Amino acid sequence: MRLYWSPVELASRLARKGMRYNFASGAPDPGLLPIDELRRSFERVYEEYGKAIIAYPGAGGLRELRIELSRYVGRTLGINTNWRDIIITAGAQHAIKLLSQLLMRRRTTVYVEDPTFVETVAPMRFQGARLIGVPVDNEGMNTHELEKLIKKYGPGIVYAVPNCHNPTGVSLSMDRRKHLIEIAKEHGLIIIEDDPYTSLYPNTEPTLKSMSNDVIYVGTLSKVLGPGLRIGFVVVNGVLRNDLEKLEQHDFAASTLSQYLVYDMLRRGVANDVIKRARELYPRKLKELISALDEYLPNALMYRPHCGFYAFINTRVNAWELLRKSVRQGIVFVPGGRFFINRRLENTARLSIGSISIDLIKEGVKALSDIIMAT
Ligand code: PMP
Repeated sequence: MRLYWSPVELASRLARKGMRYNFASGAPDPGLLPIDELRRSFERVYEEYGKAIIAYPGAGGLRELRIELSRYVGRTLGINTNWRDIIITAGAQHAIKLLSQLLMRRRTTVYVEDPTFVETVAPMRFQGARLIGVPVDNEGMNTHELEKLIKKYGPGIVYAVPNCHNPTGVSLSMDRRKHLIEIAKEHGLIIIEDDPYTSLYPNTEPTLKSMSNDVIYVGTLSKVLGPGLRIGFVVVNGVLRNDLEKLEQHDFAASTLSQYLVYDMLRRGVANDVIKRARELYPRKLKELISALDEYLPNALMYRPHCGFYAFINTRVNAWELLRKSVRQGIVFVPGGRFFINRRLENTARLSIGSISIDLIKEGVKALSDIIMAT
């Protein structure tokens, strides 16, 4: 199947109808979105740059933004890079689509966490890539299993979300990080690290990119400044950097205006302020979700979430059927079956703490558990 609706999209359509308990959306907490600062930034870039803010964007992205981002990734993600090695994209999703077009053909072997984020592997599937699922546990992708799979299927690309995984919430342990980098060197694997959530939590594991410069790093401002800005980026060097820059000319998708706005918000420290508040709020929200699940749906959690927005649960009943019933009670979540590669467990769901207010989490989980118990 080359084209299909994402379950996140399908569930989000229901949420647009006004759900009280939105566990579906991967969007950030509305209380953290810097909408007034965005207005200020617009006024500033309008005054300072005039019509340049609606000119065509140059290949690779706005130089000023790339320079600000090189500082940002150094400060918040431990990645030391030259601004030229940062390519601006229209979000992480676009970055992964471009990387898929660049690196994947029919039957290209791509190792992914199983379960993985259904939306980012969609462009890989579209290219005809052969996705090989690597089991995930509380320490993230099982790199020993990965090694075995490489013996069977040969070298290829690894697509991973090592920190605050979507949809399981786990983070790759330090031992496995080192192991993954070792395996990649030994077998000549290309690693794509997709990393939207690290900056939102204090004390996260170091990014793979900060441990090995060979890693292709995909970042985004979606979870910090707002997903509708559509600004993400790739940190990559060498030939790949040049090719990605050329490929980016095919669509010039990252709007110049958005690039200026994000640039200004970065240089004024707006992103830093949001991050400070995020690091206080999201850990509390995730803790609230976990304790509500432990209380009302004991043993439902399939993985112990470490950071990020998500928890992945066993619903015991078919999750699409459960969703239909839940929606009537104002609850929405994303059924989990499509996140899997090797098998489709339809009795699973992804719950997100992104958008829902912290005060509603417990109540929402209780309401969900009542529906499950009655099914
Ligand atoms: N990758 C992962 C793992 C994500 O969770 C998300 C957002 N849900 C994305 C990529 C896409 O982010 P963006 O808005 O930057 O396209």
